[in-house]
This record gives sequence, structure tokens and C-alpha cells, in this order.
Amino acid sequence: VARLSRHNRSFGSTAVLREVDLAIRPGEFLALLGRSGSGKSTLLRSLAGLDPSPSGEVVVDGRTSVAFQEPRLLPWRRVGENVALALLNGAASRQERRERAHAALEEVGLTEKIDAWPLSLSGGQAQRVSLARALVSEPDLLLLDEPFSALDALTRIEMHRLVDQLWRRHSPAVLLVTHDVDEALTLADRVLVLDEGRVAREWRVEVRRGARTPQHPEIAEVREQ
Ligand code: ATP
Ligand code: MG
Repeated sequence: VARLSRHNRSFGSTAVLREVDLAIRPGEFLALLGRSGSGKSTLLRSLAGLDPSPSGEVVVDGRTSVAFQEPRLLPWRRVGENVALALLNGAASRQERRERAHAALEEVGLTEKIDAWPLSLSGGQAQRVSLARALVSEPDLLLLDEPFSALDALTRIEMHRLVDQLWRRHSPAVLLVTHDVDEALTLADRVLVLDEGRVAREWRVEVRRGARTPQHPEIAEVREQ
């Protein structure tokens, strides 16, 4: 669903991404690890089309949606409206948008909050709304930039289950940026490590889709710098 070829990105004279090659296949779950400042968010923004001056080739085929570390909900809109707003640029009627927002909130277990204000939600609830908003447009590619890193450990585990469930049900391709190696190995089919602007390592996680034992995934290194 997406491909970067020889993708470069600099800020001033600092090269952040150097000749990055990356292809994301339909339905695969990819995790992106890397030190702070290694360019993970920059790469995600390139895929999201949020980079005003991409270089090299960036091809994204299909609908993309993004969720960030902070839920970024509009505080003056109720929860249901926040989700429905993601459908504004489509052809859906107001009624249809409302129904699809309801269905998306049902999937994340939050229908009772449909008329609540975002500021009344807990961090985990707000992040679930953010996921509902990302999924309501049925994206082919879901980009997640450290969506769980601000949550407490237990909520994070709940969110892992939820994301895994949603991914199996809707099978979008997912690119998850994270600092959490366990999270990457638990959720992803493939793990990339970004270092000095390049994909320095790539692992395929062999145990997947139901048969996974998160503590002991089998990993096979398929790329090393
Ligand atoms: P983190 O794990 O802390 O989120 P990251 O891997 O996502 O880090 P990026 O946000 O992609 O890192 O930033 C990579 C580098 O690019 C950093 O050195 C950052 O300072 C620089 N950078 C990112 N965006 C800009 C910008 N708009 N202007 C200038 N420099 C930027
Ligand atoms: Mg980042």
C-alpha cells in the first residue's frame, strides 16, 4: 500500500532520512523502532503526506489515517462529532457519519461516551477515541506514532489487545512507531530499526495471528547494516 524509494529528508544542513527504502504490503503490521531523533516521526509524516517537500519517491496507494501520541481531539466538539469529522471529506451524509462514528466507538468500547466532551475522558479513553477516529474512514494504511507511550502499563496492554483485534478484523496495513521493543514484537509481523537516517535492521516476527506467545516470539533477522 505504500512505498518509499531513496527517500531523503533534511532540516537545514542536517540529514534526517538518507536514501530510505521501505515497502509496506497490504494488511501487514510493521513496527518502527529507533532512538529519539532517529527520524521515525519524520518518516511517518512522509507517508502521511504531511511532508511539504518529499524527495525520492513516496507512493501511497489508498486511504491513510494517522493517530499520534496525544489524541488531538477537538475540545469544543463532542466525542461522536470528533470521530464523525474524519468522514467530512467523503460522500457520507450527516446521518451516515453519525452512524459510522457510533459503530467505530462501539468497536473501541466507548459508545457511552458519544456525547461526552473530550476533556472529560481519561488518557486511555481519549486514545481509544483517537483510534476510532482513525479507523472510521476504513483506511488501507494506518499510521500510529507512539500512540500508547503516554499511557500507564496496564492500559497500554489493553490497548495492545484492542489494536490487535481491530487489525485482525479490518486488516489495514499498520505502521506503528514505538520505543517499546516488547510492543513491537508482540504486535508486528515485521520490525524495522531506524538508525542514522537508515533502516539499520529488519526482523520478521515468525509467530503471528493467534498463535503468538508474546514473551517468546521467534524472530529472524533479515536485514543488518
Ligand atoms: P522521537 O522518538 O523523540 O519522537 P523521532 O525518531 O520521531 O524521535 P523525528 O521527530 O523524526 O525523530 O526527528 C528527527 C530529527 O529531525 C530530529 O533531530 C529533529 O530535531 C529533526 N526535525 C524534525 N522535524 C523538524 C522540523 N520541522 N524542523 C527542524 N528539524 C526537525
Ligand atoms: Mg517521534
